[in-house]
Amino acid sequence: MTEAKLISALNEENLSHFSKTYVPSRLLLGPGPSNAHPEVLNALSLNPIGHLDEAYISLMSDVQQLLRYTWQCNNRLTLPMSGTGSAAMEASIANFIEEGEKILIAKKGYFGDRLVDMATRYKADLSVMEKPWGESFSYDEIKYEIETKKPAIFAIVHAETSSGVLQPLDGIGDVCRKNNCLFLVDAVTSLGALKLLIDEWKIDLAYSCSQKGLSCPPGLSPFTMNDRAEEKLSSRKTKVPNWYLDLSLLNKYWGSDRVYHHTAPVNMNFAIREGLRLIANEGLENVWNRHNKNAKKLWNGLESLGMELHVSEDYRLPTLTTVKIPPAVDGDGFRNHLLRNFGIEIGNGLGELSGKVWRIGLMGFNSSEENVDRLLNLFDTELKKYSIFESSTF
Ligand SMILES: *Cc1c(COP(=O)(O)O)cnc(C)c1O
Repeated sequence: MTEAKLISALNEENLSHFSKTYVPSRLLLGPGPSNAHPEVLNALSLNPIGHLDEAYISLMSDVQQLLRYTWQCNNRLTLPMSGTGSAAMEASIANFIEEGEKILIAKKGYFGDRLVDMATRYKADLSVMEKPWGESFSYDEIKYEIETKKPAIFAIVHAETSSGVLQPLDGIGDVCRKNNCLFLVDAVTSLGALKLLIDEWKIDLAYSCSQKGLSCPPGLSPFTMNDRAEEKLSSRKTKVPNWYLDLSLLNKYWGSDRVYHHTAPVNMNFAIREGLRLIANEGLENVWNRHNKNAKKLWNGLESLGMELHVSEDYRLPTLTTVKIPPAVDGDGFRNHLLRNFGIEIGNGLGELSGKVWRIGLMGFNSSEENVDRLLNLFDTELKKYSIFESSTF
């Protein structure tokens, strides 16, 4: 028998790349992911157990119960989907759009664009209302569009992470109900950080992610839907065209049947249970207040350093601040300096705001006075070194 020649993973050149996995320590003050809470990391590092083990099934119920509290809803179908926020976003389109279904999407940033892209792929009859990146929609504008377009679904992003806008949602749920339309909300950067009342605001379906407000690593995306949405789902004429994200199948695993669908990422579910437990222990209103207070501290601090914020205070997003890069400053240079020399990540602008703003996130565990002080100090002492005109003083 000839010996098989295996491709070598390690040779002299790449040997050094394959030392034991090491990751530098970072403070993540960008648009996400945010740092995971140390207790979440402890939970994540436990040994996996079977996804049909009764101990795991009971943990799933805890996660669902804690999620209902965090969403402020009583929806039976409340679960963390496997995958990042975009997975639950796609689930909310794939399950509720059949070819030719009318959807109205209110788009005011990058994530509105992503919803539009997904709705197109699932062959929706699409209407879009649009605002510049940095503005929000008024109640009247939304009401008018829903009444004239008569969509089956109205979709909007609550916290637009690309522009730093918090969209007020008051009253929209009632407009949707009057017009026989489902109200779909992207709550990726608001769940577990900002006031969000799924039942009271009459939101029919919503999704989020684990790595922003919930102090967990990326990998799960909480989803919830009420009876109106369940009814719509059960009246589909065609199969959900996406097997992995089919909520009627997922419901059999997360509902009372516990029928295997796919192997749950069990460790991520340990982690999210812990992240949600920490929120419940702190109390939801305390969590919201903490995020608001630390964001205000950041805004005041930046303004007193002479910097300008991109979004008007009326609808500025506490979890993600867009601050204008001063005209004489090398934005990428400063950002890289913070990362390389201080281990702090802030984000560049996305899309049309690239090079124009930095994005500073204060989400979950990372929303603390200490972190705000640390960042403001660095803006104070380091930013002048990145002024293009004053580079000789560096
Ligand atoms: C981050 C984000 C998403 C996408 O989530 P991923 O976890 O990156 O897939 C969707 N919507 C908004 C508003 C976001 O901030």
